[in-house]
Amino acid sequence: MATAPIALVSMPSLRDDIPSFQLALLKPTLEQAGYTVVPHSVFLHFSSFIGSTLNQALAEVHMSLAGEWIWSRAAFGEVKPSHEYLSRFHHDLVSICEPAGVGPEVLLELRDERCPQFIERLVEDHDWSQYAFVGFTVVFQQMLASLALAKALKRKYPTLPIVFGGATFEDDIAAEVMAHCPFVDVVHCGDADQTLPELARRVAKRLPLDGLPGAMFRGPDGAVRFNGRAPNLEQMDLTPMPDFDEFIALRDDLELERKGALMLPIETARGCWYGMKNHCTFCGLNRQGMAFRSKSPAQVLEMLKHLSRRYGTRHFNAIDNILAPEYAEALFGVLAEAKTDLELHYEIRPTVSRAQLRSMRRGGLISVQPGVESFSTHVLTLMKKFTTGIKNVELLKWTAYFQISNAYNLLYGFPGETVDDAKLHAKVIPQLFHYQPPYGMVKARPDRGSPMYEKPVEQKMGTLVPVAVYQHLYPPEFDLNKISYYFDDTRTDVPPRETYDESLALVEEWTERWKDSERPSLTSFKTPGSLSIHDERHGRRVATRFDDRAAELYEFCADARRTVDVVEQFGADRPWLDATLEEMIEKQLLLELDGRYLALALPVNPHH
Ligand code: SF4
Repeated sequence: MATAPIALVSMPSLRDDIPSFQLALLKPTLEQAGYTVVPHSVFLHFSSFIGSTLNQALAEVHMSLAGEWIWSRAAFGEVKPSHEYLSRFHHDLVSICEPAGVGPEVLLELRDERCPQFIERLVEDHDWSQYAFVGFTVVFQQMLASLALAKALKRKYPTLPIVFGGATFEDDIAAEVMAHCPFVDVVHCGDADQTLPELARRVAKRLPLDGLPGAMFRGPDGAVRFNGRAPNLEQMDLTPMPDFDEFIALRDDLELERKGALMLPIETARGCWYGMKNHCTFCGLNRQGMAFRSKSPAQVLEMLKHLSRRYGTRHFNAIDNILAPEYAEALFGVLAEAKTDLELHYEIRPTVSRAQLRSMRRGGLISVQPGVESFSTHVLTLMKKFTTGIKNVELLKWTAYFQISNAYNLLYGFPGETVDDAKLHAKVIPQLFHYQPPYGMVKARPDRGSPMYEKPVEQKMGTLVPVAVYQHLYPPEFDLNKISYYFDDTRTDVPPRETYDESLALVEEWTERWKDSERPSLTSFKTPGSLSIHDERHGRRVATRFDDRAAELYEFCADARRTVDVVEQFGADRPWLDATLEEMIEKQLLLELDGRYLALALPVNPHH
């Protein structure tokens, strides 16, 4: 098939230390169909242009969406006076700029001068006329930069087709882009694996797109047409080996401030097996792609072998929403058996057991993102997590013990929450200072696609309104209800905001304490017949020793134990048992939660 090459573009704002998985997957997907593909990791060029530190800060999603705002002038001209944005989001912008040692005025300079110049240079320094079309993959904060480049390309090359796609687009957002961005010719919605080659063929040959699933386009009359979402790819084993060559070569060429160890994204599953049964009420991931599909463990192993050989790295970050349950044994078990030194990150259900964590750690699981969200079983039930507070604390304990980095959040503000839920957090959190703190404790949001967004009445969310920052991103002709991802609401049935002040302050203290060179600790060590505990969670060392039966009781509660089990084991002398439990709880060495007892100290012996 002799067609012109296809350009695939990944724009800022995106971190510069991880390649775009979308480019890495779509390139071989099109190549298998006979096309020549030229990927453009433009986000890397941008990082080199403004400096890595500022780039990484902009790539994080902040309430100011600064990573989008800096492209608003290049995309749309003056949307709203900049001083309104700068004063409204002053604190947020200061914290974004601080690590780079600059002030928010730099963002204004970026928006008004440097980003438009960057786009102009991109257009002028490259011959885009050589391509059959230019495809943009859009996730997170890549929308405005993509629109800015697409618009500039269309201005210079009016007949060059522009195609958008990526996880950002379901029909609602896609329709809004098509309605107000005439320089975008096609938006692809849904999994591109099966439909993109045919879409490429028709776009390259200027053939009509009628009947092609996934394609939203303009007909000859100018009206937007949509053939429905592309089907989910059911057999994940059909996806080709990702190709990161362009990113690696460019990263080697460019002058970046920092080049850490290379970590490659991998995709081993799509959708969420848990969300298929119980969609967590705040979760806006997946949208129409919730059905869970995963690669066979054998193929994942083959992929890890190929990528580690080709790119000389042992660090991999799975972009999956949730770990496929069978991987615990069939993937990590095999890696453990082979004694490899691979290091992998996965998102997991917080209900994995100590034994599973141990075996996965041996297989290279060094970092997880579990859906902890709360220590209150009541709140976890409200959000449909259907796990328990004590189970979450156990997860924190065993990830700390096995030295698995744990990136989690705490959420509050679910309708139905009570003052007691907030009090529970204020009581539990100070006892956990020796475990990894959360990223933060934030109010649960009704993100687009979440049950809180889709069913606001049932979820008692009141009226949903796009968050104010979108007024600074899109011109007035856009319907912000259709293009926005983040929303404010008028939820009812929640305690007043100040109810959470104590928990929020404690989380802040916890986070600060973890920045100390001497982190808080609570450790236990065993000697014949005794268990000694050193408590340094709150600045001073408190030593406690339990002997004989008390030592056995504490050890018995290493995993959370039900009261009935504790009584069965140690209840022969009930007054002694009650008094010993009370002492352990009073010293905050044992947590009593959800009718269970959990020993909080981390054994110093790493081989249990
Ligand atoms: S929050 Fe996680 S577990 Fe819940 S539905 Fe979303 S992806 Fe699935």
